[in-house]
Amino acid sequence: MSITQNLNNIKSSIANHVTLVAVSKTKPISDLMEAYNAGQRIFGENKIQEMAEKFEAMPKDISWHMIGHVQRNKVKYMASFVSLIHGVDNFKLLKEINKQALKHNRVIDCLLQIKIASEDSKFGMTEVDALEILQSEAFSDLKNIKITGVMGMATFTDNKNQIKQEFTVLKNTFDNLNSIQTSNCDLKIISMGMSGDYKLAIDCGSTMVRVGSSIFGLRS
Ligand SMILES: *Cc1c(COP(=O)(O)O)cnc(C)c1O
Repeated sequence: MSITQNLNNIKSSIANHVTLVAVSKTKPISDLMEAYNAGQRIFGENKIQEMAEKFEAMPKDISWHMIGHVQRNKVKYMASFVSLIHGVDNFKLLKEINKQALKHNRVIDCLLQIKIASEDSKFGMTEVDALEILQSEAFSDLKNIKITGVMGMATFTDNKNQIKQEFTVLKNTFDNLNSIQTSNCDLKIISMGMSGDYKLAIDCGSTMVRVGSSIFGLRS
């Protein structure tokens, strides 16, 4: 099936309140343009350099989401245009994003990445870490970032029960942190779910799914 058909199938299977991020990492501009021409305006990439190149090449009414692990020294390459950074998992990174956003006179929306998977390889912080950051004075000084939600990645497994349990942990973390309302924290987004598990994620409370291979086909 074509990218357009894949997109339309997925869009018709998810509720209106769920935002679809089309994960286009490794895919050529021609593929992204097909999705764009089918109406898609939110794209997710996991490498800053690649995202910056695609930003240059593509129409300017696209929202670019950084969904990968972010190295602090590369924040500057996306600070002028990135619309949401999903994978913020430490305070030093948040400070750097704030610094670079200030240079462009912007406020950059960020999600706190929460570790929900049992594997060691997945990045992310605990709910306690997140609480500590959001309640700190140092955080309240960061005027050029806004925490708009949480993000998580489930364990890579076929065990649906385990995935469901991990998604539920993220939903609960969101609910627990949600009482915090400050000038730079207003939690609305739960980013969870990929090609293999986005329907389950939505059942568990996801408001934003990151779907790649089900739209663009397998990556080599
Ligand atoms: C690649 C990637 C996705 C999309 O994965 P698919 O299985 O191709 O849908 C989602 N989230 C993150 C963080 C990714 O790196």
